[in-house]
Amino acid sequence: MAKRDYYEILGVAKNASEEEIKKAYRKLAMKHHPDRNQGDDAKKAEEKFKEAKEAYEMLSDAAKREAYDRFGHAGVDPNMGGRGGPGPEGYGGFAEAFGDIFGDIFGQQGGQRRGPGGGGPQVYRGSDLSYAMEITLEEAAHGKESQIRIPSWENCETCKGSGAKPGTSAKTCTTCNGSGTVHLRQGFFSIQQTCPQCHGSGKIIPEPCTTCNGQGRVKKAKTLEVKIPAGINEGMRIRSAGNGEPGTNGGPAGDLYIEIRIKEHAIFERDGDDLHCTVPIGFATAALGGSIEVPTLVGKAEIDLPEGTQHGKTFRLRGKGIKGVRSSYPGDLYCHVALETPVKLTEHQRKLFKELDESLKKGGDKHSPGGKGWADRVKDLFK
Ligand SMILES: [Zn+2]
Ligand SMILES: [Zn+2]
Repeated sequence: MAKRDYYEILGVAKNASEEEIKKAYRKLAMKHHPDRNQGDDAKKAEEKFKEAKEAYEMLSDAAKREAYDRFGHAGVDPNMGGRGGPGPEGYGGFAEAFGDIFGDIFGQQGGQRRGPGGGGPQVYRGSDLSYAMEITLEEAAHGKESQIRIPSWENCETCKGSGAKPGTSAKTCTTCNGSGTVHLRQGFFSIQQTCPQCHGSGKIIPEPCTTCNGQGRVKKAKTLEVKIPAGINEGMRIRSAGNGEPGTNGGPAGDLYIEIRIKEHAIFERDGDDLHCTVPIGFATAALGGSIEVPTLVGKAEIDLPEGTQHGKTFRLRGKGIKGVRSSYPGDLYCHVALETPVKLTEHQRKLFKELDESLKKGGDKHSPGGKGWADRVKDLFK
């Protein structure tokens, strides 16, 4: 389900002031507050209220608003850690085992220079890598330990990481005298630039190693243990620090981001922490009522259908949804009843239906909750 834009939810402009955001939220909160909305509209109002609350919480926090402006919903997903770190329940061993989920999406910037201000070879952080992982809804709900193959770089065995052909060695770059940078004079200005000869490494390899093409390292694959926390949702990312591309000239490696995709489920549809499913029932069961069995993610449950259950009626099973990564309680399971019309009737069944039909017609409107007064209304229409 696509998330709505936070500014749109609050009905404010992108450059709205803190005061405007607060005002807009107050207005919406009053309108949709659960205490003020009862009956059929209660559920809708509750959702609107939650939506507005989330939007306000994100946009009223300067850091979160900035992240949202830059990265969209992915930058501030309230179900994820964000800047604040683990949720009330914490991840325990998970964080230690596999780095902080979404930990510093705000802080990291792939490929940025992290070297000294001037002089010395240019040091670059390696790029971040991303990996799409597809899991089932059950795996998302209960968590999963998995292994993935990711690219890794190892020192080249032929040249022992120097990048120079065995028997030769790297020489100090004569253009920049090993500093990695050159100064160009333009009028009054002196401009510092990465050395075009050695590309900032400060060294020149006259005879590059043929195994690694002078890179000093070769690309291999390695297996990484990944722990998917229970409750993870579509589009969430797990950060594995230092498992991205290696840095240049001794710079730190980038990070690996594992992005979660959840396969379509045969029965359940997920909406946040809640699950929805459609339960087909027969005419007789709907009319007479009774207990029916429904599936949940952790086994079977029962629903007591009252006599005269109508098509589309929804039954909520509290706590039978999914407990989100940051949630304190699991969501609910909504079972939507779908009335099934029997097909391929035998002669006997046809006869029974006709008898039943006659009998129901004799009772008039009283057997027909949805069509009460229907016949009269139609008559009025053609008067
Ligand atoms: Zn080599
Ligand atoms: Zn140079």
